[in-house]
Amino acid sequence: MVAEQIEARGVRDKHVLDAMRSVPRHVFVPEAGPQAAYADHPLPIGYGQTISQPYMVAYMCEIAQLEKKSRVLEVGTGSGYGAAIIAQLAQHVYTIDIAPALANLAEQTLQSLGYNNISVKSGDGCEGWRDEAPFDAIIVTAAAPKIPSALVEQLKDGGRLVIPVGHQFFTQRLVLVEKDGERIKQRDMMLVRFVPLRSG
Ligand code: SAH
Repeated sequence: MVAEQIEARGVRDKHVLDAMRSVPRHVFVPEAGPQAAYADHPLPIGYGQTISQPYMVAYMCEIAQLEKKSRVLEVGTGSGYGAAIIAQLAQHVYTIDIAPALANLAEQTLQSLGYNNISVKSGDGCEGWRDEAPFDAIIVTAAAPKIPSALVEQLKDGGRLVIPVGHQFFTQRLVLVEKDGERIKQRDMMLVRFVPLRSG
């Protein structure tokens, strides 16, 4: 998976590649079976949601430039796989999902694997996680029609937000937002396809 799908497409960050090698993806998608779990595409995880393609998880972590001391917010816990990858790279992950059933299941899976640097809660991630802000990085794994202002507010100075922007059934842009004092820099990184970020 790592050599053919991720390194071959240009992800070079050694820590990201190591994390992608060490987290057992099949544990997060038990229904898929051990082979399909590592295939080059997203997979259903129930409730109409999907676990992202392995390459996309790696790429988003690489451009977020996570460091061992980073405190990271993930919006869209889903299976918990992305949170596990981030947890290998950062100090602590705060992950939030609007679907309580997914948040609970992900929390159990992550506990069973022994992670102690991931906090999971259910709620609307468009509001961020005020009690734990600000964050060095925020990674959103569902597409927003526009960038939620609370997320930009909850970034540290120098922090990075990675978020798919666009509408369901249309092409979306993966946007990298960098906060530099009062300046907010935005860059389109690639075209992507994510499930929609729900609000409320
Ligand atoms: N990172 C996940 C993939 C998540 S799919 C993984 O590794 O498996 C997108 C997730 O975003 C879904 O679980 C969906 O329930 C969640 N979601 C959608 N809108 C949301 C919102 N407003 N706040 C938090 N989570 C949301």
